[in-house]
Amino acid sequence: MRVIVATSNTGKLLEFRQALEPLGWELLGVAPFGVTMPMEDGMTYEENSLIKAAGICHATRTAAIADDSGLEVEALNGAPGIYSARFGSLHSDLERNLYLLDLLRDAPLPRKAKFVSVVTLAFPDGHVESYRGEVEGELLEGPRGSGGFGYDALFLIPSLDKTFAELSTEEKHSISHRGRALEQLLHAHSSGALKASAS
Ligand code: IMP
Repeated sequence: MRVIVATSNTGKLLEFRQALEPLGWELLGVAPFGVTMPMEDGMTYEENSLIKAAGICHATRTAAIADDSGLEVEALNGAPGIYSARFGSLHSDLERNLYLLDLLRDAPLPRKAKFVSVVTLAFPDGHVESYRGEVEGELLEGPRGSGGFGYDALFLIPSLDKTFAELSTEEKHSISHRGRALEQLLHAHSSGALKASAS
């Protein structure tokens, strides 16, 4: 089955490809289709994830998968949440990381945070599935590690004493919010329960 990964984030595309490899689906990037990503104007991860997957599915008449995700920081009352990609109206991951560190400079340790991901799979016949994953951690006072994307270098998994940026893609996938959501999708489609929609 051909499935378009509705994201312009190459880090996410890589994670989707690795995680869903056992299903044998052909996971395509959105760029070759010449369609623009829909505006994410929902108020929840669920709404934004559906807007992206259903929008690209509708525009291409091809099954599409999308994730809407974000970082929720306890000391910031859950911000930036669904606005994580546009936090502070800044244009790069580095700027957003520095902005976050600045906002937290007086926050006591540990600075608890969690990542949330909602993955949605949309089919041309209108069938839609959504899966939610979360992971809890702590934000460091400075970046550690060089892998991943977004806020990975600040997000510590205390039990491993490693940030997401210090883990391989496989290691991150095994515990991450997106990995947990994709694991449910993988399970649903491996068990045969949803094979009819997927073929
Ligand atoms: P969106 O889902 O495309 O709206 O973007 C979510 C934003 O949340 C990303 O641009 C990152 O800033 C952040 N984010 C989501 N998942 C991750 C992750 O696995 N690692 C680091 N940052 C993430």
